[in-house]
Amino acid sequence: RAAAVSAPKPASKPPAPPIPPKRVSAVSAKKEEQSPADPTPLDYSNLNEEQTDTFIESLRGVDPTAAKQILNEIIVRGDEVYWDDIAGLEAAKNSLKETVVYPFLRPDLFSGLREPARGMLLFGPPGTGKTMLARAVATESHSTFFSISASSLTSKYLGESEKLVRALFQIAKKLAPAIIFVDEIDSILSSRSDNENESSRRIKNEFLIQWSDLSSATANHDEDVSRVLVLAATNLPWAIDEAARRRFVRRQYIPLPEAETRKVQLLRLLARQNHSLGASELDELIAMTDGFSGSDMTALARDGAMGPLRALGDKLLSTPRDLIRPMLLEDFRLSLRFIRPSVGKEGLKEYEEWAEKFGSSG
Ligand code: ADP
Repeated sequence: RAAAVSAPKPASKPPAPPIPPKRVSAVSAKKEEQSPADPTPLDYSNLNEEQTDTFIESLRGVDPTAAKQILNEIIVRGDEVYWDDIAGLEAAKNSLKETVVYPFLRPDLFSGLREPARGMLLFGPPGTGKTMLARAVATESHSTFFSISASSLTSKYLGESEKLVRALFQIAKKLAPAIIFVDEIDSILSSRSDNENESSRRIKNEFLIQWSDLSSATANHDEDVSRVLVLAATNLPWAIDEAARRRFVRRQYIPLPEAETRKVQLLRLLARQNHSLGASELDELIAMTDGFSGSDMTALARDGAMGPLRALGDKLLSTPRDLIRPMLLEDFRLSLRFIRPSVGKEGLKEYEEWAEKFGSSG
């Protein structure tokens, strides 16, 4: 059986944190085996069913089915993302380091006035790297990463979704340091009251209650709980309920990439491809991608890479690999007819206005 509870593998690239992150302390059977002097985090990647059940039983007031679902589907493992994988976004990376990564790795320094935030919002056009940033934060802060969206919370059985929300927060506290990443937070914490149905109202309430509990636990100086953060992403920041919005102490704008960032990303995408683009052609191509998001750039590179194969038609089947021509600027020109920016100028203005009004500076 696949492991049901596994703390994420400690990141291999960055240096070890000064304080070893604490792992799945609730599994008492395992905990007793470790000598208090042993600083190595326990490896819980091979928990058997019985140990998983022991862990679930240790969670008081948590529905076991919901707990299993969280452990199996909501915790993300493998495929780690690092800061260096993300092109540009230096301001966002710095803000995330200060708000989450440093406090998680040095909880001794971040107390009292430096108490870490309980919530941070990443907002901006779709495809700009918000999800990548959240994953990098989890890797770089050696945290357990819980990833949910409105659709993973909606259940056809009344009341089940609230149980799931409760289980999510309880397990996150046990597996601290933990990041609860909520994609499309606008649909969970929406301000719509007229057409809001009973079930989404209940999910929203439960979410807010559990989130507040984190803050009161912080006030009681519970160090583990202070290393649980709700990191949320949205393409529709204006749809978030006003009271909920205020709880995000930091609201970080994730803008469309500048030309320089698009270039870095494109060069990375082309790094292992056979292409003929010289410096001036590359600059020409970058100029043609004004308004493109990171995911638009990925789509463009993928489509451009198909150019040399499309040119072959059926000969593709018999042409040796080393006789396939390199990608040309012309391939990209053709792709650009179909791959257009996902966000228009008007849409962009809306984000900028919202950022001006409600975003955290920096
Ligand atoms: P969002 O959550 O903002 O909608 P994602 O983080 O899911 O966007 O990004 C979607 C895809 O676009 C990523 O998987 C990646 O291929 C590409 N991408 C977006 N932004 C960047 C970036 N800054 N650097 C590298 N790749 C990016």
